[in-house]
Amino acid sequence: MGLQIDIAAILANHAALAAQAPTARAAAVVKADAYGLGAATVAPALYRAGVRDFFVALVQEGRAIRPLLPPDARINVLSGHMAGADLTGLTPVLNSPEQFFRDRAMRPGQPFAIQLDSGMNRLGMEAAEWAAIRTEALAAGPAFIMSHLACADEPDHPANAAQLAAFRAMTDGCGVLRSLAATGGTLLGPDYHFDIVRPGVGLYGGQPFADARGVVTLSLRVIQTRDVRAGEMVGYGASWHAPRDCRIATVDAGYADGILRSLSGKGAHLFAGDMACPIVGRVSMDLITVDVTALATVPDRLTLIGPHQPIDRLADIAGTIGYEVLTSLGLRYDRTYL
Ligand SMILES: *Cc1c(COP(=O)(O)O)cnc(C)c1O
Repeated sequence: MGLQIDIAAILANHAALAAQAPTARAAAVVKADAYGLGAATVAPALYRAGVRDFFVALVQEGRAIRPLLPPDARINVLSGHMAGADLTGLTPVLNSPEQFFRDRAMRPGQPFAIQLDSGMNRLGMEAAEWAAIRTEALAAGPAFIMSHLACADEPDHPANAAQLAAFRAMTDGCGVLRSLAATGGTLLGPDYHFDIVRPGVGLYGGQPFADARGVVTLSLRVIQTRDVRAGEMVGYGASWHAPRDCRIATVDAGYADGILRSLSGKGAHLFAGDMACPIVGRVSMDLITVDVTALATVPDRLTLIGPHQPIDRLADIAGTIGYEVLTSLGLRYDRTYL
């Protein structure tokens, strides 16, 4: 089974999102191992294409890519400064007064950033907390101040304008670089761009970046093919019975590889070229059964993710989002970078 990752497409997606926000610096979010695609390859490729600002969720993710990037790459850690963390060479995004005071006590003179909560109520300082430390925090020279939008994938959602107004109220006149937009916010237009945009999923070919180039192709090997008579069952729970005589191929990946079990019985397909072959029966841990009756010859590999069935299509079928499909892709695939 093979996961093909098109680095040129990631770079093209980054350039396209950067072009949406020409007055801002376009960072790259490479948390969760670059959304499952391999931060050790993706981050240096983005650096070579000119990206200098990177975001990870956790200190260990930052530690993993720090040696792979030249010193002028800025690696921002969204979880901020947790007690005991080794933040050498990293920039923590400080989310609370507690993190701010810890960081300034332990890392005086070292770079830091600030996250404010503009309404999502997930991470960042509340307006009153910020007001209380604002003078001291600005005097310490934050690299930038950021916040995050909860509903940027819904352009008409009233929370977007409300969060924008809240962010402006807290930061106008600060004289510090500001960042509000991830992929969705970048597409909301110039009001949301400020100085740094932080696209993640759009780089990797996911919604809400409708014009994204596909990045991932996932093809699975056919281990075995068999004829099944009308009325016979296939797979765990005997949830599927052949409606007629048919030919079933068993391929070599399953839910342990991030092919969600909730895809079972929902109309997902594997593709042989342009030919769609339905998944039948339940997705097992390591195996999937596919109705290949319509194929004249069964190829060595069938494609699950590709142009015919992009990550967001698969996500819709499974009842989730492209982000979860990407970050669930397991570690058992042979990865090829194009
Ligand atoms: C994950 C994340 C991003 C990137 O979001 P996408 O929707 O993937 O573009 C940006 N900023 C923060 C704070 C995040 O948590």
